[in-house]
Amino acid sequence: MDAYAACMGVTVSMLASGSRGNCAFVASARTRILVDAGVSCRETFKRMKVLGEDPQSLSAILITHEHSDHIYGLATLAKKLRIPIFMSGATHAAWARAMRDENGERPQLEKLERFESGHRFQVGDIEVKPFTIPHDAADPVGFSFRVEGAKVSVATDLGYLPVNVRDHLRGSDILVMESNHDVEMLRGGSYPWSVKQRVASNVGHLSNLKLADFFINDYDNRAAFVVLAHLSEENNHPEIARREAERALAERGGLFQNRLFQNQVLVAMQSEVLPPIRM
Ligand SMILES: [Zn+2]
Ligand SMILES: [Zn+2]
Repeated sequence: MDAYAACMGVTVSMLASGSRGNCAFVASARTRILVDAGVSCRETFKRMKVLGEDPQSLSAILITHEHSDHIYGLATLAKKLRIPIFMSGATHAAWARAMRDENGERPQLEKLERFESGHRFQVGDIEVKPFTIPHDAADPVGFSFRVEGAKVSVATDLGYLPVNVRDHLRGSDILVMESNHDVEMLRGGSYPWSVKQRVASNVGHLSNLKLADFFINDYDNRAAFVVLAHLSEENNHPEIARREAERALAERGGLFQNRLFQNQVLVAMQSEVLPPIRM
């Protein structure tokens, strides 16, 4: 699969992104991580092959929160791969409560590693920092990674961007950000009123508009790549999200200070693998 750029040894891709399943791929030269396991094991393996990666070479899976679009494939992936699964204690408890196997038993994670939001930990040569995000789950987090000297941040499923989240995003070379919905499309769309309220709330999902506000007012303009993620298929369109983001970044003062890379605003899709970013 074609990559966007090549030099240092960081690889980032999105195997799937959206309300029907999320899974991101972050790797150094020797450590490979999945962020979330929201598509089936079979589909995850298939998409890793599209990426040119062997699922058996994965080092760990990290979970942001227990919503099904982030954990759907987890039990099977954990059983097949027998690699460490990192999640917070509260997320694990919520996941275990909700999951029952065919015999009504709670599934076991053979290699569960609990982390605490705000506390760094290490997976191979990748340093991970989970940080709290505002979302209607037990203990939802975003992640920042230090990989091969670069900073990669992933922040999806959040109703807004509070100061602590903005702080964690600072200095990122690759920024994966939720751009969930167009406010007008959500308002005029077919969702029931209660669902519209939930999505638009401060513990729901980030709109194109709120992301644009971040780019204009608080973004350090440093990232070489911005990936727009968790787009609603019903209440957004990839070109609308891209246009909003590019307009905001232009307003922020010239599209990207880092001129090394072209084609910097990328849109992660539900149905296809994002060609890998390498830097
Ligand atoms: Zn969620
Ligand atoms: Zn989600």
